[in-house]
Amino acid sequence: MALFNFFGKKARPGGPEGSESFGAELTPQQREEERQQQAEQAREQRRELDAGLAKTREGLFGKLARAVAGRSKVDEGVLDQLEEVLITSDVGVETTVKIIERIEARVARDKYMNASELQAILREEIAALLQESERDEAGGASTGVAGTPDAASGPDEGTPYVVMVVGVNGVGKTTTIGKLAAQLKREGRKVYIGAADTFRAAAIDQLAVWAERAGATLVCQQMGSDPASVAFDTLKSAVANGADVVLIDTAGRLHNKVGLMNELSKIRNVMAKVIPDAPHDVMLVLDGSTGQNAFEQARQFTEATKVTSLTVTKLDGTAKGGVVIGISDRFHIPVRYIGVGESIDQLQVFDRRAFVDALFGE
Ligand code: GDP
Ligand code: GDP
Ligand code: MG
Repeated sequence: MALFNFFGKKARPGGPEGSESFGAELTPQQREEERQQQAEQAREQRRELDAGLAKTREGLFGKLARAVAGRSKVDEGVLDQLEEVLITSDVGVETTVKIIERIEARVARDKYMNASELQAILREEIAALLQESERDEAGGASTGVAGTPDAASGPDEGTPYVVMVVGVNGVGKTTTIGKLAAQLKREGRKVYIGAADTFRAAAIDQLAVWAERAGATLVCQQMGSDPASVAFDTLKSAVANGADVVLIDTAGRLHNKVGLMNELSKIRNVMAKVIPDAPHDVMLVLDGSTGQNAFEQARQFTEATKVTSLTVTKLDGTAKGGVVIGISDRFHIPVRYIGVGESIDQLQVFDRRAFVDALFGE
């Protein structure tokens, strides 16, 4: 299962949670079967990504084809059209300008660049851009953010890794937590989930269903209780029971920045009473199908609290998948997961190369 290495340490072998098989006890035949299973899973993920991005891909190609129709070389007119193609594909203005400038520089070097090459060039530039934002993340402010394979500042041995999940109502926080819990559980982790979205009883019930499905432990209080208090209880309970990971669901109904900031700070401060360096990850969930709205939400949340990773959901069936390119370029916060459907397996680790391949076709 492709899952980020949250800890830089291995899942616990054996023990009640370690239901997964571990290398040493496997026969060569079992190992081969496991390898084939993993390969099949990887192919399935690629199929889902390809299918999910189909509308974005078709939209982009249709517009590109129209942009170069009847043109033999890449001139100003073609570049103007390309700019419009990218903006209407939700790449975002700043990132579009950056891409256009790079292509302009290439055109200046190669004056007779054929218009039919435009697609390949665009692909190269987008791939390069995504790679650069990945490098920036590795060397930038988010150093030590867990999830990078060499996460320097994971939690102390024996302390659970705490992920606080934030984002506005309806983007897919609860669903993402459920999917993530299931993946972690399959890796042999002991997972605790805190129902700190206490605004509606239905929110707690929905999380309970996901926890049950994933095989994770839910900590909750009544509807209307203090979210910080739920977070506190969850961490206490997780520590007492030797959990590996804690996922805290939060409400996204706070309409002004000060209110949001206060609420999130309060939850953070209470958690730090139990585990001083918690939360280890603050994951902002964005709904990719809202295009430019997702940008705006990312801007507001990053101003209200320190966000350390992004998950972009609902990339299935939207034509606005280009938003991921702009978001990675603009915010210098790693896009760690993408949601490509509602079911429990449809959360993928964001793989830049696979994304570009799926966007342009291979
Ligand atoms: P929350 O309010 O942020 O907790 O959002 P929910 O987790 O309740 O999700 C809102 C809706 O979005 C639900 O109907 C989910 O099934 C749906 N959803 C979440 N992630 C995805 C995704 O990746 N793809 C699709 N198609 N739907 C999703
Ligand atoms: P306040 O409610 O504005 O005073 O904010 P606090 O940060 O003091 O606490 C927020 C919530 O977290 C409280 O309602 C408590 O239920 C819970 N809490 C904070 N600290 C503790 C603690 O040391 N023990 C327990 N049991 N709960 C705590
Ligand atoms: Mg929710």
